[in-house]
Amino acid sequence: MKFEAVIGLEVHVQLKTRSKVFASVGVGFGEEPNTLTDPVIMGLPGVLPVLNHEAVRQAVRAGLILGSEIPEVCKWDRKQYFYPDSPKNYQLTQYDEPVCVGGAVEIELPGPARNIMGEHRWVRLTRAHLEEDVGKLTHAGDYSLVDYNRAGTPLLEIVTEPDLYSSAEAVAFLNALRMLLTEGGVSDCDMEKGQMRCDANISVRPAGSSTLNSRTEIKNLNSITGVRQAIDYEIRRQTGVYAAGGQVVQETRRWDAEGGLTTSMRGKEEAHDYRYFPDPDLLPVRFPTQEVEALRTALPERVFDRQRRYQETLDLPYTLTSVICYDFGLARYFEEALAVYGENPKALANYIANELQRERGAVEGEGLLPLEDVAMRPADLAELVRLIDTGTLTKHAARTVFVEMFQTGEGAAAVADRLGLKAEPQDSGALEAICRDVIAANPVPAAQFREGNAKAINAYVGPIMKATQGKANPREIHEILARLVAASD
Ligand code: ADP
Ligand code: MG
Repeated sequence: MKFEAVIGLEVHVQLKTRSKVFASVGVGFGEEPNTLTDPVIMGLPGVLPVLNHEAVRQAVRAGLILGSEIPEVCKWDRKQYFYPDSPKNYQLTQYDEPVCVGGAVEIELPGPARNIMGEHRWVRLTRAHLEEDVGKLTHAGDYSLVDYNRAGTPLLEIVTEPDLYSSAEAVAFLNALRMLLTEGGVSDCDMEKGQMRCDANISVRPAGSSTLNSRTEIKNLNSITGVRQAIDYEIRRQTGVYAAGGQVVQETRRWDAEGGLTTSMRGKEEAHDYRYFPDPDLLPVRFPTQEVEALRTALPERVFDRQRRYQETLDLPYTLTSVICYDFGLARYFEEALAVYGENPKALANYIANELQRERGAVEGEGLLPLEDVAMRPADLAELVRLIDTGTLTKHAARTVFVEMFQTGEGAAAVADRLGLKAEPQDSGALEAICRDVIAANPVPAAQFREGNAKAINAYVGPIMKATQGKANPREIHEILARLVAASD
């Protein structure tokens, strides 16, 4: 029998705020352990939580980006459990009145190749609720260390409907979510810093069936590779159980990245195990409708909407939009350059997706140089492309100018002057003579041109540029070529 998988995700995303959700101490990553704590975080007797409204605002902003409804009132509940990651022995969360209800996320399924757009589909959300993050345990042999720096960081838990059908779709969902939330300024969603983690609920059923079989929940997947491998493993395991005539037990499992397998942690806990009850120390929150609408009007364009706009109105190919749109920093860079020089979006996009990315990667250090540290500003790139389009710089010379601009942060014209790379007004008689020689050496493109292939004369540009050491004005070359080729008829 053929089987198919059904997957629902619970994604935890740390919201960007300066301080914690119920305490005034700051949030941070990579600090000395247990320095971002205070009596509230440590749950000392007599302390009271105070809500950080910015955390609610960020959660609402996230909800609006995800198309959720924002109920006028949300409230806080205690989820009781006993584990050293929370000194209070309960977690503040939202049980039955979450900040966001419903919603949907557009995802792009993997295309047939990296450079070809995949199919798009919507994944429904059940809800998203705000809660406090917990401390981090490091297990070391027969003892464990605990760091409460992370405890109290605002965390949005986004729950999907069981609308995903493979590990690739789950990864596509996480990618879409990361792009939406980073462009909204709601979270950086950096999985390496634990800003985005996910639990995957997985079941398997006969292909084509619409029943939901019993599922397992794999806890705390904290990398894309982990998500992919854990889901694939679990689908194989459950399929094997059914194929052998067995039943899948509803339970919570752990992903063992080293062993490459999931292992049983505990039976699935039910809501009543947590003894949820409304927190007596915190009032429900009323979020005024006007404030919701104000946030809604300030939302950025969603990633796939922007991509469609670039493809449809700016005529950019998927190979460029998939680089520029899928990284909000690059999209903003492109928009700024476009605002300065709107004549040639494709050239701007090309420089950003190719040259800029290449130079960022060539800088010493891990990964790409952060975009904020790139000295070359969008207006400088706009100027460079303008110089090419007006014939002041050849494309060939522009390559050198670009690298120099990237390294020094100087403007395009200044670099071109300093390096003596500006196209020089040529003695047009001499240029014409060169053109004649080049045509005479190879009459085929000229003939093709006269037969209606306008692009054929481009074959002459390279040799002419070579003969002029790249300093001829490309426009002038084209004018002369068109005239000579037509005349030799
Ligand atoms: P709980 O509150 O016990 O964690 P929920 O019913 O809220 O469980 O579901 C949690 C997640 O599990 C959701 O993302 C949901 O889509 C997913 N889910 C529920 N049933 C199934 C199933 N049979 N197969 C796969 N995923 C499921
Ligand atoms: Mg859960």
